[in-house]
Amino acid sequence: MSRPIDRTHEPNLRSWVESANLKDTDFPIQNLPFGVFRALGSNDSSRIGVAIGDRILDLSKCVTLGLFSELPQALQAACRASNLNPLMAMGTEATLTLRQRLSQLLRSDNRSPLAGEELLILMSDVEMLLPATIGDYTDFYASIFHATNVGKLFRPDNPLLPNYKYVPIAYHGRASSIVPSGRAIDRPQGQRKRPEDAAPSFGPSRMLDYELEVGFFVGAGNELGQPIPIDRAEEHIFGLCLVNDWSARDLQAWEYQPLGPFLAKSFATSISPWVVTLEALAPFRCPAFQRPEGDPLPLPYLTSPEDASSGGIDLKLEVWLQSARMREVGMEPFLLSRGSFPQMYWTIAQMLTHHASNGCNLRSGDLIASGTVSGPAAGSQGCLLEITQRGSQPIELPTGEVRSFLVDGDQIVLKGFCDRPGYARIGFGECRGAIGPIGNSQLTIRN
Ligand code: CA
Repeated sequence: MSRPIDRTHEPNLRSWVESANLKDTDFPIQNLPFGVFRALGSNDSSRIGVAIGDRILDLSKCVTLGLFSELPQALQAACRASNLNPLMAMGTEATLTLRQRLSQLLRSDNRSPLAGEELLILMSDVEMLLPATIGDYTDFYASIFHATNVGKLFRPDNPLLPNYKYVPIAYHGRASSIVPSGRAIDRPQGQRKRPEDAAPSFGPSRMLDYELEVGFFVGAGNELGQPIPIDRAEEHIFGLCLVNDWSARDLQAWEYQPLGPFLAKSFATSISPWVVTLEALAPFRCPAFQRPEGDPLPLPYLTSPEDASSGGIDLKLEVWLQSARMREVGMEPFLLSRGSFPQMYWTIAQMLTHHASNGCNLRSGDLIASGTVSGPAAGSQGCLLEITQRGSQPIELPTGEVRSFLVDGDQIVLKGFCDRPGYARIGFGECRGAIGPIGNSQLTIRN
């Protein structure tokens, strides 16, 4: 079931794309994440690319030039599609075959058969789009630390509800408002009611927040009525990206009972454009979260020895904030927090298996997010609601500005990477979004 560690992960592998050999690049030849792009400022149709250093390998051109002629016809067709859905639908064997061919093409000792730089485009010359047509989006709540911290703010006597340790909690999100990194975000309007207000009013959110999350794309789907056993779950997962689940806390607090989040979340969700495959992540697997003594074991349908021993992913996460003032004076973004994905209470396999356990069909390109990634310690909390204790303990930025929640002009940048001795470091790129007043989202921001 698990993906192999093979020649594509060899730490000494170098690419003829020089920028891919730089020490801190997110996209060395060992990574090879997939994304969808088009030339900046054009209305060209979108194409699939693979990130390599500061460039993108154009898969459609690879097919045209016959570089994939030994691959199955269906796989070649998937490489010429306008999004990743067909490739995702082909399942893990196709992804592995394509990865091995890409690694072979890009390695430093294989320059000659390639048609120069014609296959490559500078990242700075393209606009990244959503990697897939996302039919459905589900957001879990898989960090027990986030659930406990948030629970304390709303229910000090009873922070963690009794179902939490048994059932992976989630809600159905809104797929239509998912946007790629770099798109500006409108401050949403909605019903807000402060404790001192007798009745709600309608207006711009006063408590706008981000949430640091990890998402995964469904690869091969399942038929309606056919659950996915836990030991087959990862066969249905294509790869991971970073997710910012923008959240209007004042709207959320007023609307969430009794059915959960709605308009407080559905105005926008940002994702990083590069999908890092489970194949690329093979060297960075780790045990599932070690439950403290006294916690119940997961029910049998959510348990497998392999998931317990290697169902985690040692992915390190960071959140950076840059205010408009910081940009004006040329100040670098400020590190708000660091997150650790192995601290999640549920693995990605458990989330996927639970999702399909009632027979619900998942489809290629569906996005499933983890929920806010928070740890137990200060500095590891994945949203301002936790960091500022619902605004009661504002933080100070290097400019002297103070934040309880996000102010117009603030940019939030999520980053993620995996490193482990003996393997090349791989990164996720960034997930960037800037908050502005209504109408702001017509803008595209560039870092
Ligand atoms: Ca969330």
